[in-house]
Amino acid sequence: MIIVKVGGSLGIDYDALCRDIAALYKAGEKLILVHGGSAETNRVAEALGHPPRFITSPSGYTSRFTDRETIEIFEMVYCGKMNKGIVERLQRLGVNAVGLSGLDGRVFEGKHKDSVRSVENGKVKLLRGDHTGTVEKVNTHLIGLLLDNGYLPVLTPPASSYEGVAINVDGDRAAAALATALKAHTLMMLSNVPGLLRDYPNEDSLIPFIPATDVESYMGFAQDRMKKKVLGAAEAVAGGVGRVIFGDARIENPVSAALSGRGTVVA
Ligand code: ADP
Repeated sequence: MIIVKVGGSLGIDYDALCRDIAALYKAGEKLILVHGGSAETNRVAEALGHPPRFITSPSGYTSRFTDRETIEIFEMVYCGKMNKGIVERLQRLGVNAVGLSGLDGRVFEGKHKDSVRSVENGKVKLLRGDHTGTVEKVNTHLIGLLLDNGYLPVLTPPASSYEGVAINVDGDRAAAALATALKAHTLMMLSNVPGLLRDYPNEDSLIPFIPATDVESYMGFAQDRMKKKVLGAAEAVAGGVGRVIFGDARIENPVSAALSGRGTVVA
């Protein structure tokens, strides 16, 4: 079982990704795709007159402040345009893909965090009305039904809270929770960089290998959103996933390239 998480950053080639996934799927590989949609969400949010608001937690993680209007825009883009765009590409390539958000069948479930701490001008503020959370439970039964009957699941945030409220969750950590729940041998996180860079943004500074026992000590190389990927990788390998690969989604055959060891391998 391979879990492929593809981001939503600029430069990602979804056509090349879907061609590669279709070829692997037809060769008998069991695959699940998890995707993001951050860049397109920012664009649509601006166009709708509700620009994104990013906050930095006291521990240095960046996230999107998600009020009710933002989660609705988020759903339009993630569950609508991005999810259906990927499903359509796969259908054209002869793969019976099924697109689901974490809300559908509670594929991804977790606790709703209504307030969040944000550092602004050196001061910590408490912001209320946030629709965010972290995936704690995965509906492996529903995923199993799809996989056992020849469908390729295409999954996306938001998740469902325990009360059934849509919550924005980090896609990388959702994919890590899914890979852990399904005991996947490989989790890959594809984005618009070659992998984890020692000296970001210098693409010649790729870190090729990170020992599973020592992921935490590489955290320092990751800035802003890359931190969540490294955190997700640490959670996945600690949870029994065989290996995590950070790979490039701007190239032809991105999944096959990562499978052959291109990128940053955590094992
Ligand atoms: P996606 O939405 O594609 O999952 P993110 O934007 O969440 O991707 O995270 C990937 C981004 O992290 C890269 O585009 C890059 O700008 C940033 N980044 C920060 N530090 C690093 C690093 N050390 N190596 C690679 N990318 C990094």
